[in-house]
Amino acid sequence: MKIFCIAANYPKHNQEIKMKAELEPVMFIKPETAYLKNFSDFYLPEFSSQVEYETEIVLKINKMCKCVDRKFASRYYSELTLGLDITARDIQNLAREKGLPWFLSKGFDFSAPVGDFLPKTDFDTVHDIDFSLKINGEEVQRGNSKDMIFSFDEIVSYISQYVTLKTGDLIFTGTPQGVGKLNIGDKLEGFLSGKKVLEINVK
Ligand code: MG
Repeated sequence: MKIFCIAANYPKHNQEIKMKAELEPVMFIKPETAYLKNFSDFYLPEFSSQVEYETEIVLKINKMCKCVDRKFASRYYSELTLGLDITARDIQNLAREKGLPWFLSKGFDFSAPVGDFLPKTDFDTVHDIDFSLKINGEEVQRGNSKDMIFSFDEIVSYISQYVTLKTGDLIFTGTPQGVGKLNIGDKLEGFLSGKKVLEINVK
């Protein structure tokens, strides 16, 4: 199973992290060991003093595909949910300064908690899905898929030109503005179209 992530896919978040939008999606990958399932507790790693949440809509690939055209891409994902692209921001910032890969700051163990999947058919359209994150009962981040620079179909098509997508692969589709630091004791709750799909406690 592969976990793909797209960076810089919401204009206001790009201002927040001082990244310019690129003409093509900026992609990175998390290893399978990053996957945190079943609402298990997330333990803050000791190697970072600035671990941040990024709330993102996650697609699940339902059929193998390669070089899929954008107009057919929606056939290859039928479920979605929310995930957290957990980032060791201090380590990422050092890597960015030096022009080095982000891998360790994004790919460490359990850096990809994923919620309960909902069928795509639950939504009138995938181009207008509201989502939000609450920490300790207070909303800290809110976004809508209509604000994405690259749509779900464009992302699926783009990745598939380079890498074969297989059933069960996950795609994190980018975070809106409002990312922030995690602290021990935080209770995170993620909502997709008002429905709670994710709950993680930080230890
Ligand atoms: Mg992200």
